[in-house]
Amino acid sequence: MSRIVLVGAGHTHIELARRTADFVAAGHEIVLINPFRSHPYSGMGPGLLAGTYSLADVMLPAAALVEQKGGRFVAGSVSGLDPERNRIELEGGETIGYDSVSFNLGSEPVGDTSGDHVYPVKPISTLALLRQAIERRSLEAATIRVAVIGGGPGGVELAANSAHLLDALRVADPRIDLFTSDNPLAGVRGAREAYVERRLLAAGVRIHRGRRAKPAEVDADFVLLAPGIRPPAVTRRLGLPLSDDGGIVIDRFLRSTAYPNVFAVGDCATYADGPLDRVGVYAVRMQSLLAHNLLQRSGSSGGNDLALKPFTATHKYLAGFNLGFGLGLLYRGRWTLRGRAAFALKDRIDRGFMRRYHDAVRR
Ligand SMILES: Cc1cc2nc3c(=O)[nH]c(=O)nc-3n(C[C@H](O)[C@H](O)[C@H](O)COP(=O)(O)OP(=O)(O)OC[C@H]3O[C@@H](n4cnc5c(N)ncnc54)[C@H](O)[C@@H]3O)c2cc1C
Repeated sequence: MSRIVLVGAGHTHIELARRTADFVAAGHEIVLINPFRSHPYSGMGPGLLAGTYSLADVMLPAAALVEQKGGRFVAGSVSGLDPERNRIELEGGETIGYDSVSFNLGSEPVGDTSGDHVYPVKPISTLALLRQAIERRSLEAATIRVAVIGGGPGGVELAANSAHLLDALRVADPRIDLFTSDNPLAGVRGAREAYVERRLLAAGVRIHRGRRAKPAEVDADFVLLAPGIRPPAVTRRLGLPLSDDGGIVIDRFLRSTAYPNVFAVGDCATYADGPLDRVGVYAVRMQSLLAHNLLQRSGSSGGNDLALKPFTATHKYLAGFNLGFGLGLLYRGRWTLRGRAAFALKDRIDRGFMRRYHDAVRR
């Protein structure tokens, strides 16, 4: 029996958790290590802030999937790796051996995230805390000021959904400021950017371009930090080859370029053939490939390259924004959908993704 350890319950590993029984049937032991038993799905994060979704709606049941299908869940955070001796180190000192290991650790916001009224965009569960804090304040204050720092996709969605929340709470004097660089809003151009800007302005968001604001400098009750993301600091303690921003460098088979029994996927990885956007879509696309390659690697062939399948990056994917108030923007290549139809489709896709995992637990 070989032991496969999955570190992090991100968008790729959640599917491996759902398929634990396949690994067990093939004679492998599956161990999932994650700080929490469930993991929030980021695609529904902005709707969580607005109140469109509850926390239960957005939580993926990672531990339950693994345990029900014959695997083992370990609640903990990985703090180091000894890739020569095939051992993982956990915060608190425990070590766990492996035959193959895969990292799906996600990403963290760039820069300083400290401060009482400062809410970093990741982890996504922070958005539930922010919503509660805003709801509490709305009971006693007529004015609520929210500042969002960062005008990329996450920042734009959160500014729009902050406006949605303040509207739903009937705050008499709402103020939402979005501080962004001179880069295109939400990273989109032309008619798409114009639509995003129109929606933000219609929602009452004041856009401050060309301003690299710091949390301490902005006048706000709540500051939402969405200045960009990078692989988490722990990748620097794994003894693996890294890209400049700390991503674990992986080959076409999703393996570390230094150790063929170490895999990495999603935001914490950097694809050696050309960096990919750090979006959940890629982590999801890597699901079945990682399952196949881990099964091959752990099987009798020992993972010779002929048995493994390579990842092909298409660089075209369906991207979507929840712009609050039941409106959205979806696009892929030259195709664009806007308004209510866009949000309805995004909502259907996101709820379908969640159902896949919740149904698997119930069965
Ligand atoms: C507001 C917002 C909205 C977004 N919307 C979209 C969208 O609509 N579509 C899209 O494609 N992308 C979206 N993204 C981007 C998306 O969040 C990321 O690309 C995606 O979460 C990456 O998935 P992942 O599987 O790499 O990691 P994650 O889903 O972040 O999972 C990482 C996991 O690793 C665990 N972990 C971390 N450190 C450790 C450790 N030391 N030990 C053990 N476990 C650990 C965490 O607990 C977590 O379970 C959005 C991002 C934000 C901020």
